[in-house]
Amino acid sequence: MNLNIKNTFTTELPADSNIENSRRQVENAAFSFANPKKTAKPTILHVSPEMTAELNIYEEDLKSEFFKNIVTGNEIYPNTKPFAMCYGGHQFGNWAGQLGDGRAINLFEVEHQNKNWKVQLKGAGETPYSRAADGLAVLRSSVREYLCAEAMFHLNVPTTRSLSLSLSGDNVLRDVLYDGNPAYEQGAIVSRISPSFLRFGSFEIFAARKDTENLKNLVDYTIKHHFSHLGKPSKESYINFFKAVSERTLKMIIDWQRVGFVHGVMNTDNMSILGLTIDFGPYGWLEGFDFGWTPNTTDRQHKRYRYGNQPNIGLWNLYQLANALYPIIEEVEPLNTILEQYKIDFEKQSLQMMKSKLGLVASDEDDLKLIQDLEENLQLVETDMTIFFRKLSDFTDEKSGFQLIINAFYDLENISEDVKNRWNTWFKKYADRLAIERISSEERKEQMDLVNPKYVLRNYMSQLAIDEADKGNYTLIDELFQLLKKPYAEQPENEKWFAKRPEWARNKVGCSMLSCSS
Ligand code: AMP
Ligand code: MG
Repeated sequence: MNLNIKNTFTTELPADSNIENSRRQVENAAFSFANPKKTAKPTILHVSPEMTAELNIYEEDLKSEFFKNIVTGNEIYPNTKPFAMCYGGHQFGNWAGQLGDGRAINLFEVEHQNKNWKVQLKGAGETPYSRAADGLAVLRSSVREYLCAEAMFHLNVPTTRSLSLSLSGDNVLRDVLYDGNPAYEQGAIVSRISPSFLRFGSFEIFAARKDTENLKNLVDYTIKHHFSHLGKPSKESYINFFKAVSERTLKMIIDWQRVGFVHGVMNTDNMSILGLTIDFGPYGWLEGFDFGWTPNTTDRQHKRYRYGNQPNIGLWNLYQLANALYPIIEEVEPLNTILEQYKIDFEKQSLQMMKSKLGLVASDEDDLKLIQDLEENLQLVETDMTIFFRKLSDFTDEKSGFQLIINAFYDLENISEDVKNRWNTWFKKYADRLAIERISSEERKEQMDLVNPKYVLRNYMSQLAIDEADKGNYTLIDELFQLLKKPYAEQPENEKWFAKRPEWARNKVGCSMLSCSS
């Protein structure tokens, strides 16, 4: 294995002068050097061939001890120095101070085909940022992160990527429901890659510490490597940087809304500066369409990060980033203008996205109303989002509309006449609206099927793969990995995954209830 190592982060940004791996506040630094922990018996369970190719790792390398040791933190790649990044963040609406990579260790950067990838291990042991925790990760949360990142990519949602999933061979103690019943679980390590793992919180920490010099260093670094089209450091390029982050964040969230993804912990330390989906924790996929749903039991009371609130939270988080960038811009108005624009763009893009889900190309002044009526109908009784939208592309006429979507209902037998009538009314409006479209129904179906996935990583699917993996059987991980590479394609052999959540999963831990414990 011969990687083209090109480290920019550690060579261009200030390092923590303390090289001890002890928990502490780290000031005047963007990162601390920290080596991964050696593990008892590392075993690779799955590798993403697409991502190894991105790093120029050959197939024969994948079988080597060396590769296994690198992606599990048991060996350090020659002439590289692993490190943990320093960042802060707003958690559930409150400033939480220093957080940082507590269970993530960055290995190195690889340049290949004009792309620079950061390679990071999640669950490879403690760092100066581990606070009261152990820096480790368990199999269940690692399977979920590994599969979901790749699934998101193939859904065309901006995301960090997965490289490998491994067992560490160590046992890790976790209290899954935070109810005082800790138990040992198998330790695991995901290696993940991204052009950058910088978060809003990476900037916030310098602002909070009034370290304007390092704030500027970090912004200059970020613009130079990730927003180079914005030009040299200046007040103007800083404002444009914020504008670009705002636009990317909005785009990502619109995509989440489109596919029914709920991140679960949109704290500012989990918001990528590149607008990528990052840190797959207690995330979930909508089954019944419900703006009020969140998978995260830690957030059950206030539901801050519920599906329908994600766009608002994106904006709230951007306000925090604006505050953090203020010291190098020193003007409120341009930042406010960008934040106001987010709201305008959201309305526009959200309408556009929903129209695309309905196969509407032409413009009609009643489109917003049609969509609002639909969203109301979808929430009358439990109605599966993925199945509904996928089935809708076969719509021909109002008379057969209701019949077309019966598989989307979780309790078909108890659907009232009133609910049925409301659907028939909506389908009548939809049919009338389609009449002003110029494209053929075949074309419409084709376009709708490119934005309405047939297969998503339903929570129970991950759980089935986890239950099997816990018993030492990893075939379902691969089956789902392959399935989710083509989420928009018809895959007749995989029709069983185009189904509602089974009843056993309704109230099961890991399916409907998830916590940050990972
Ligand atoms: P999260 O919201 O799950 O992304 O994590 C919030 C913060 O807690 C981050 O700084 C993590 O690095 C840290 N953290 C979470 N789990 C652990 C763990 N097992 N060991 C050390 N730090 C952790
Ligand atoms: Mg995080």
